[in-house]
Amino acid sequence: MSKNLTADAIVIGAGIIGTAIALELSKAGRMTLCVDRAPKAGYGSTSSSCAIIRVHYSTLEGTAFAFDAYHDWEDWSGYLGLKRPTDIEAARFHKTGCLVMKTEGNGYLNNVIENVRALSIPFEEWSKDKITERLPGYDLRCYAPAKRIEDPAFGEPGVGQVTGGVFFPTAGYINDPQLASQNVQAAAEAAGCSFLFNREVVQIPSTGGRVTGVLLDDGLEIEAPVVVNVAGPHSSKVNELAGAVSDMRITTRALRQEVAHVPAPEGLDFEGSGLVVSDNDIGVYCRPETGNYVLAGSEDPPCDPHDWVDPDEFNRDFSDQATTQALRLAQRMGGLKLPNRMRGVVDLYDVTEDWLPIYDRSAIDGFYMACGSSGNQFKNAPGAGRLMADLIDYCESGRDHDREPFQFKLTHIDFDLDTASMSRRREINPDSSFSVLG
Ligand SMILES: Cc1cc2nc3c(=O)[nH]c(=O)nc-3n(C[C@H](O)[C@H](O)[C@H](O)COP(=O)(O)OP(=O)(O)OC[C@H]3O[C@@H](n4cnc5c(N)ncnc54)[C@H](O)[C@@H]3O)c2cc1C
Repeated sequence: MSKNLTADAIVIGAGIIGTAIALELSKAGRMTLCVDRAPKAGYGSTSSSCAIIRVHYSTLEGTAFAFDAYHDWEDWSGYLGLKRPTDIEAARFHKTGCLVMKTEGNGYLNNVIENVRALSIPFEEWSKDKITERLPGYDLRCYAPAKRIEDPAFGEPGVGQVTGGVFFPTAGYINDPQLASQNVQAAAEAAGCSFLFNREVVQIPSTGGRVTGVLLDDGLEIEAPVVVNVAGPHSSKVNELAGAVSDMRITTRALRQEVAHVPAPEGLDFEGSGLVVSDNDIGVYCRPETGNYVLAGSEDPPCDPHDWVDPDEFNRDFSDQATTQALRLAQRMGGLKLPNRMRGVVDLYDVTEDWLPIYDRSAIDGFYMACGSSGNQFKNAPGAGRLMADLIDYCESGRDHDREPFQFKLTHIDFDLDTASMSRRREINPDSSFSVLG
């Protein structure tokens, strides 16, 4: 292709993960260009993220990866490493902690506790009384299995009560995920990265099995030996553009999600004193939201159908799904009133078969993918940036990552992560929760 621009690396997508990868590639000395079809960083699925930072995952690798990145959110300005002031403010981490209910459905958290113990991650066992002391008025009667609102048994408690939970103090949420991406963009620019917005990648040519760059919708051709697909819910389309799907055992698909924002019950200062709660018994997670709202997301109970969509054509209006989630939460929080007009977000996850991400090379030399974030990788973006930059170094120096998978040394904790667990060619991981919980 005729050369218009050159770079050492092109990152497709300027969401939280794309900007983090662009930052680390730039810090490693690669002349990096990050391209996004949106007008600003963080305008893709990142903008709708609940941005919950938590450390519990169903696999040991997932737990270690999340705990490593937790340290970056806790010291956000240290992570960004911005020496000079920028004209944008920094995103804030609200360290509320996260309470996870122990239920039959999540195996009473036995595997989660095993994982956090192995990594010396702090946690506390909470009794029923401790839970209601911390969450006044929280009704602990059992409702499992979660039901649809048209089910006549909806809202009818079953037998018994949730008897306890596990509280993780190293958890919370980021107030503004879009702003966090723009913070990382500023850090990447300070490290020498360039960003091109309002431009869509429409072709990813290769020659002799190696990627040669990208073609943009305005006709601009950019030549580069490394191209990274961080296109979020569009990842499968971008992999198709590169012709990189033939050897993928794990694939990605866009899944529509609704998140409800409901005013907290009268007299409850949930914004000031609430916390992140993962409640498998009702199939809902929640966290405080600005304006003393409660954000209610879905933990994908089996009764809820999956709405797989084309990421370029999906309905951004609420269906009854957001209402269902809010009503499920109302089973716990007496006095939670549903507004006439639902507030919240409708957006997309980029989901793999086992709901674990792909951070990998591809069948095309020089073409990499950081995708399949399955609704649970916002928190891991700082680590994903480092992992991808090191993995790219490993492969570009001639190592055969598919045969001899790259072992990634985490930054903040003593753990070598076998990145075969994040391969596009892995078998489906049976240890996964097969849900947004990862
Ligand atoms: C409703 C919701 C709630 C979530 N809650 C949480 C949570 O609480 N905690 C958590 O850890 N994770 C959560 N997630 C997941 C997390 O937000 C995502 O994993 C993360 O934001 C993905 O970031 P990204 O950079 O990979 O993708 P995105 O932010 O989607 O960015 C991809 C970018 O690629 C661009 N793009 C696509 N195609 C092209 C192209 N051809 N050319 C140029 N640009 C292109 C898009 O414009 C977009 O900006 C949630 C996700 C959603 C949708």
